[in-house]
Amino acid sequence: MPRPIDVPALIEGVRSGDRAALARSITLVESRKPAHRPLARELLRELAPLSGNSIRLGLSGVPGAGKSTFTDALGVLLIEQGHRVAVLAVDPSSSVSGGSVLGDRTRMGALSQSDDAFIRPSPTGLHLGGVARATREAMLLVEAAGFDVVIVETVGVGQSEVAVHGMVDTYLVLMLARSGDQLQGIKKGILELAHVIAVNKADGENAGEARVTARELSIAMKLVSSQSSERRVPVLTCSALHKIGLEEVWQAVLEHRQYLEATYGLSSYRASQQVSWMWSQTEAAVMDSLHGTRRMRRLSQEMEGKVGSGELNALDASSALLREFAAQVPTLDWAQD
Ligand code: GDP
Repeated sequence: MPRPIDVPALIEGVRSGDRAALARSITLVESRKPAHRPLARELLRELAPLSGNSIRLGLSGVPGAGKSTFTDALGVLLIEQGHRVAVLAVDPSSSVSGGSVLGDRTRMGALSQSDDAFIRPSPTGLHLGGVARATREAMLLVEAAGFDVVIVETVGVGQSEVAVHGMVDTYLVLMLARSGDQLQGIKKGILELAHVIAVNKADGENAGEARVTARELSIAMKLVSSQSSERRVPVLTCSALHKIGLEEVWQAVLEHRQYLEATYGLSSYRASQQVSWMWSQTEAAVMDSLHGTRRMRRLSQEMEGKVGSGELNALDASSALLREFAAQVPTLDWAQD
């Protein structure tokens, strides 16, 4: 029989910086068991006032760009400066592969040795919405436990970038020196999210190429950046392996934070992230519910068939779906789990 969950003890443990209590608390917020959600909410409600005091940094880049090496080296550097560093990860693909690569402790050898670091791999078995929610909540918990830098890692693909961008203050993209003229599959959309870009592996024979890539990217970023933004996205070079240029990258992160503070105010920026989060959660819940009952699923299939065969037009089918949905709304359970 699993031990019953003692929420007050977890709260006390997280408050006092107890790592085992922190790890158990994160497991609780990651849990999919409906009975665990009220406990997780209670935990979060109690600890929320202690959260928010960290520098929240998102980090992405294609596999092999050097994210783990970079996080390890930057984390150690920041700990030397007196910070306490938590590393979280958002990797929805780990639900498919069954194991998370990102945030793996074994890939951050130096950092994982430190008492001032806390490394947590991406939760598994959840779809992106679930991973994003769990990671947001884990971020609050590590902050409540006294970690003042939170690095959230993600691979350079798809919607997880947007999710991480929506939960951090500064979004850093690690790139590699160009191979040919393509931007290694990094889509324009991801560059649009970037607040700071660093071309990694700028060492040895690769150093010159990295500088050229950084210059080219810097020009490209002027075109990508939204017209309204007056801020130029800095494009730097670094070597995570040889620990070159890491201070400069961190400086750029801090400068971006100062920019946020001066333009929006950090708390307003975070508040607007919360508003977006509210809508994305609400929309996701509505979409889930739209397919959540057997009747709705049956009707959806029927309507798809009829529209597909030309028997019914799309608008009429949509109305039928909405009518059925409206009829079901009072019976739906809207608890966010
Ligand atoms: P990730 O998949 O983005 O987390 O990338 P890793 O941190 O695992 O790095 C992938 C490979 O690139 C590893 O073999 C690293 O040792 C190597 N690597 C990472 N950073 C650097 C760097 O700055 N210079 C060089 N030369 N190799 C690096």
